[in-house]
Amino acid sequence: MGSYQKFYDQSITQPDAFWASQAARIDWVKPFRKVCDFSKPPFARWFVGGETNICYNAIDRHLATRADQNALVWISSEVEQTKKYTYRDLFDEVNRFAAVLKTLGVGKGDRVLIYMPMIPEAVFAMLATVRIGAIHSVVFGGFAAASLAARIDDAQPKVMITADAGSRMGKIIPLKPLTDESIKLSRSPPKYVVIVNRGLDKGMSTIPGRDMDYSVLRNKHLDDVVPCEWVESSHPSYILYTSGTTGKPKGVQRDTGGYAVALAASMPNIFATQPGQVYFCTSDIGWVVGHSYIIYAPLINGSTTIMYDGLPIRPDAGVWWNIVEQYKVSVMFSSPTAIRVLKKHDPAYLKKYDVSSLRYLFLAGEPLDQPTSDWIEKGLGVKVIDNYWQTETGWPILSAEPGIEETPRKLGSPSFASYGYKLKLKHEETGRQVGPNEKGVLCIVPPLPPGCMSTIWGDDARFVKTYFTTFKDEQVYTTFDWATCDADGYYFIMGRTDDVINVAGHRLGTREIEEAVQMHSNIAEVAVIGVADQLKGQVPVAFAVVKDTSKIGTPALAAAHEKEVMAMVDKELGAIGRPSHVYFVTLLPKTRSGKLLRRAIQALCEGRDTGDLTTMEDPAALEQLKAAIAK
Ligand code: AMP
Repeated sequence: MGSYQKFYDQSITQPDAFWASQAARIDWVKPFRKVCDFSKPPFARWFVGGETNICYNAIDRHLATRADQNALVWISSEVEQTKKYTYRDLFDEVNRFAAVLKTLGVGKGDRVLIYMPMIPEAVFAMLATVRIGAIHSVVFGGFAAASLAARIDDAQPKVMITADAGSRMGKIIPLKPLTDESIKLSRSPPKYVVIVNRGLDKGMSTIPGRDMDYSVLRNKHLDDVVPCEWVESSHPSYILYTSGTTGKPKGVQRDTGGYAVALAASMPNIFATQPGQVYFCTSDIGWVVGHSYIIYAPLINGSTTIMYDGLPIRPDAGVWWNIVEQYKVSVMFSSPTAIRVLKKHDPAYLKKYDVSSLRYLFLAGEPLDQPTSDWIEKGLGVKVIDNYWQTETGWPILSAEPGIEETPRKLGSPSFASYGYKLKLKHEETGRQVGPNEKGVLCIVPPLPPGCMSTIWGDDARFVKTYFTTFKDEQVYTTFDWATCDADGYYFIMGRTDDVINVAGHRLGTREIEEAVQMHSNIAEVAVIGVADQLKGQVPVAFAVVKDTSKIGTPALAAAHEKEVMAMVDKELGAIGRPSHVYFVTLLPKTRSGKLLRRAIQALCEGRDTGDLTTMEDPAALEQLKAAIAK
């Protein structure tokens, strides 16, 4: 163990030497000739000329030393099943899937869209895709057909992989009908749909010629070995869509070499996890945390990864701690919302199992409140480490790094900058660097470190415009988060600077939800804002102006109308974006120039002072909102 400060300083003052030494953590078939090419800012290319393959690093290279070690343990409390795959088993399954993809014509650079529940085949599919040099785009299973269609149109996948259904709280959630509908809505439909039929949705229909049953295809390739496609370091490994201020989601494009190195380095340095140890990340493969810390990082590191399908409270609130005991989990990664869900249950569950193997619980995705942090830390007797990052970065921007040094933690702070991140807190208007404890916009001075997004899929100009043009004085990457930094270098995240909200650790653009609400024929205009929520951090709330007021003429009619609007969001975006309330009004509070007074609406909903409203066009609008909420 060394010193964090020394490690960090080296990463900033001698980035080439620093990253060259971290790059030795992965296997290269051809060495890189340059650590970083930043000749076209803000675009950065890491490990230029180097050739590698993520799947090779995650599986093949471990076969010599850990073929019989569990690579993946899948535990589903939904279907009450556990499946274990050694590195050898994983190798076999991934090769079968890779062979199937190849026979369907997928090759280097082709896109494969994966819309799947939390099942092992999803992991095989992702690894198989990168094995053959293709690019995956995993879409969270909770997104609806229209959202899926937008992602199909943007990524233009050759093949789509899905399952008949997932399961939530024991209820079957069919995925195939949504897949079919999304393809109907899409302008560039995939040629083939591969279906992992779990036998959950008995009524699933298929389209001959297009739909393929994975088990039939797999059986034809049981003994196939598909060589890894060696790709140049900056070859895209995947696209992952994330929300922003516009309705159109952004395809975060990740490279190969930089990502593999960043993840390989993060396991020992940040997550203090060694090869052979068991790592349990409770996220979903549809999110960045799932990509990085259920799949790629633990496997690249030669660890055992636990993949959990189900809720943290089913069959009871001890299910995760039972897993920790049974598999001797060394490090866990979860979210504050999940812990808040557990907090509603008997704390005795935290003491019911032997969790002495567990050394750290990392939490990320949203602000971690002190009561939640204290409750779990004391209850389990395990150190909680708050870490902060984004889909765009792929690994933590801010975190304590217990693998380097056990530094004191400060409550409410995800500690300090991870090595490689040169951070700057800039004044919103002037761009000057703010002083200690002064609020500023958290920015990263480019080049973005390895592992971070290389661009927006198919749209370099949008990448530059979205992330690098907030400040006129210098070209820096904006996180769109407010933060402060104290005199000891500890950062505190204070919320978003844009209209993105964070629901249970998942990022949603209010614009996306507004567009979904507006698909209802009786909605003329709508404002969606994020309102503080005890459990989920924030929830979306909608204020909608209706065209025909007779449809909300009575409380019963209004309630029915609210349900209709919610159903419209479920259909367009997915239940994940469903507003917790839809209030009907005839006017929205706006400035005289027509800008929605979002902060004022949010303050009103949260019972705070609405601030200066002198620019408001019509004060009656706010009164209406007040009355609607009071009802
Ligand atoms: P996502 O890209 O969906 O992972 O969302 C990233 C956003 O979540 C960040 O820009 C922050 O607003 C928020 N976030 C992530 N981690 C933290 C954290 N540890 N503390 C506070 N906010 C966080």
